[in-house]
Amino acid sequence: MTSAALSPEKPHIFSLRMSDLAEEFMSIGVPEKKARYHSRQVFHWLYHRKITSFEQMTDLSKLTRQHLTDKYEIAALPKVFEQKSVDGTQKFLFKLFDGKTIESVLIPSEDRLTICISSQVGCAMACKFCLTGTMGLMRNLGVHEIVGQVLELSKNANISNIVFMGMGEPLHNLENVCRAIEILLNQDGLNFSKRKVTVSTSGLVPAIRKMNERLKGAYRPNLAISLNGSYDAQREEVMPVNKAFDIKTLLDACRDWELEPHRRITFEYVVLGGLNDTLEDAERVRRLLADIPSKVNLIPYNPHPGSEYARPDDAKVNAMHRYLLDRDVAAMVRHSRGRDILAACGQLRSAKKEALESASAETAPAAVATA
Ligand code: SAH
Ligand code: SF4
Repeated sequence: MTSAALSPEKPHIFSLRMSDLAEEFMSIGVPEKKARYHSRQVFHWLYHRKITSFEQMTDLSKLTRQHLTDKYEIAALPKVFEQKSVDGTQKFLFKLFDGKTIESVLIPSEDRLTICISSQVGCAMACKFCLTGTMGLMRNLGVHEIVGQVLELSKNANISNIVFMGMGEPLHNLENVCRAIEILLNQDGLNFSKRKVTVSTSGLVPAIRKMNERLKGAYRPNLAISLNGSYDAQREEVMPVNKAFDIKTLLDACRDWELEPHRRITFEYVVLGGLNDTLEDAERVRRLLADIPSKVNLIPYNPHPGSEYARPDDAKVNAMHRYLLDRDVAAMVRHSRGRDILAACGQLRSAKKEALESASAETAPAAVATA
């Protein structure tokens, strides 16, 4: 592991889509067809062979390599910390050029290995139950910082799924998230299947509509919505974003989200003890989603120290689950992963501060739920 952080001085090569690279080559006089060919070669070196210097791109001319060296940064995103849960979940901390840190989590399950990545340092949405929400927004991640999390962890692991469910609101950093997706899904890039990539949002309606237009065809990820409430007053209490975009406005945008046949939108529902955990809530959720191809992930809340909300009773979560299943709603309970290593949304960063500063292992409840 290295502790050197990325230099901000030059643009980063991992921020460039293949079309950006082709344009770069054309700007130095390479004819279009050859520029496209070069951009594919560079992508192969970066994302298939995962090389770490332009010098290693031996099928490019010396002059081209020199041009890239002069103009672009290629250093890897430095991993500074990693920890493994008893359940196999691993969390990683990356250090950014400005000293800020972000988390990524690897979550193994029977048939897949999911990476949960961050899109921002902190988050502006201030959801009351979420530790990241208490931090406020520090900054958006650059494209290379989003791609870098996947690239680095893919060097030692065969990742099958990507979820944008780490720190931050991905649709509050829409352009960079879209560009990163275009790199992650490019066949000559990291070559993820669009069905294995999920963007989760708290419900920024204009950005959902923009993404609907922005990412089409081969680059279209799955959409997940953090519903977390069954009526406006309840949702608003925990998610301030509901004041700007209420449930009806949000679900209208979901109805307009173009879905391929047999695909569904995932609705995440964090079950907060005593707040949104009744059968009446389940019935309201059923009605809200009745005309949307959807599946519901019930996520038992994982309280963090100082949190004003409680973990729900298992019996209540199971009753909601049964109620939905009995009425043909595709519902799942997503059990928490990585509890012993604080691997939940926003909790890694706080844990790391303590772990790095006092070298004492914390054991507090936390969760990451997979899509
Ligand atoms: N900002 C995006 C994605 C990151 S949060 C969003 O809100 O959708 C990913 C998921 O974790 C969200 O569904 C959120 O509701 C959930 N979450 C946040 N804190 C949690 C906690 N302490 N326990 C369980 N789920 C939590
Ligand atoms: Fe931000 Fe998502 Fe946490 Fe809300 S739940 S504060 S949107 S990271």
